[in-house]
Amino acid sequence: MDVELSYFEIPLCTDPDEGKVELVPWPFLLPSVLVRAMIDQGYLSLLVGDLGHMQGYWNQLLLDYPGHPAHGQEAQSIPLTLYGDEGNAFRSSWMTFHWQPDLSPLLQNSACSRFIITTVPSSMYVFDENGINLTLQAAGAVIRDSFNDLGTRGCQIADRSGDIVLDLRCFVVNFKGDWKYLYQLFCMERYATKEEVCWRCRATKGTNDPNWSYSNISDTAPWRRTLFSESPWNENVVPTLASLLGFNIQMLGVDLLHIFHLGVGRDLCGSAIRIMASKRGYWRGRTQEQRLKTATQRLKSYAKQHGYSLAMSKLSKQNLNWKADCFPELKTKGFDCFVILRWLVWEIGNKDIENDLLSTALWSADCWLNLLNKSRMFLTELEEENRLTLGKLCTTSYAALAANAVQGKRFLFRLRPKYHLWHHLAIDVRASKLNCNIHATWMDEDSVKRWMRIKRQVHRRTATENVLRRFLLGLRANLDRGLALVRSS
Ligand SMILES: [Zn+2]
Repeated sequence: MDVELSYFEIPLCTDPDEGKVELVPWPFLLPSVLVRAMIDQGYLSLLVGDLGHMQGYWNQLLLDYPGHPAHGQEAQSIPLTLYGDEGNAFRSSWMTFHWQPDLSPLLQNSACSRFIITTVPSSMYVFDENGINLTLQAAGAVIRDSFNDLGTRGCQIADRSGDIVLDLRCFVVNFKGDWKYLYQLFCMERYATKEEVCWRCRATKGTNDPNWSYSNISDTAPWRRTLFSESPWNENVVPTLASLLGFNIQMLGVDLLHIFHLGVGRDLCGSAIRIMASKRGYWRGRTQEQRLKTATQRLKSYAKQHGYSLAMSKLSKQNLNWKADCFPELKTKGFDCFVILRWLVWEIGNKDIENDLLSTALWSADCWLNLLNKSRMFLTELEEENRLTLGKLCTTSYAALAANAVQGKRFLFRLRPKYHLWHHLAIDVRASKLNCNIHATWMDEDSVKRWMRIKRQVHRRTATENVLRRFLLGLRANLDRGLALVRSS
């Protein structure tokens, strides 16, 4: 595709032993350049499946953002998501940025809907004395300027006589990526490793005042009254991306994949399997190992019957982190956690329910996830009601299991800070009723892996340029495939 890369200087630590910092011209595939090229070359329908849907989309979304610049130009505004995550290549990690058009008709097809911007080697990050990541801030400024150009100058489409028939704007309205990425990019003072854990509210680990602890889930917990009341960054530091047009802190999404399927869901399933394999009655076998073997056979046959593929070869004490003084945790991929939770609900449904609280937690968590999965971008009144009811049920029953375990001095149902973000997804209310599942990064991880594979062959200083050029080389074919898919659907 006929698109040029752009180069901007960013600070990089070019010699970590000497602590040498240089401004290095770094390649970017600017979103403004790519969006304009896509529109010029006939791929608008991959940015917005149906132009007629834009007005309705913004009518709903802008309920959350009353002062947003898309007001008054809803039918011409294309909503975008910015994504970032670290992926591995050369035995070191790279921050990768890409964007997606939220109204793309092919969101489930990562090659046609995820567009890379740049990658930055995290081993070369430069930090200032306050711990601010200057490398990511500089990259963020380049990305911000490019998106802001799409929000102000926009892109125009003319007819044959040269008259402007469409005057389009683009706005970033969602940010997704794992927690660490958001923490770094938005210079957050509050994080999982700190006393104040949450960017959304002032919940703490409860060291000084247990009332403020995120484990206090009572309706009167004081942190509940502080939702989005203060920026999570120091007032002297404004993250570069926070000056994107129309930016709002509520646009930072909680990624269900990392928070649940690679977080609380692992704890829930790990503890559940440990409990169920510890006693007789669930799975045949005289020893715990034999019962785990039976459980593995049953899990495999359940997965086969339902058409799920599992990455995990067996349930074992090792991959459940089953040790005397450790919290159990299902050590496997996010999708395995999804399958295993469904299977556990099915297993429990086949038995006389002995542990009510556990079966409630498993069942309601599965129903809650299923509801979000099946629902569209904005929930209906009924879906929203069910989300809140099921969400309250699964988060409170999990917290009760954790509290019982603490009381009984047993290592079960760990209540880590990720629980708190999951809790937000269950209880927070937005006027738009935006489905929090849109911030899950299943498909995005897929893209990062693909791009990292390209990197492995080339030198660190030129790797990013190589990845961007390879991406561009295959882009037209991918977009043409996308157009064909859209036309045939
Ligand atoms: Zn919070």
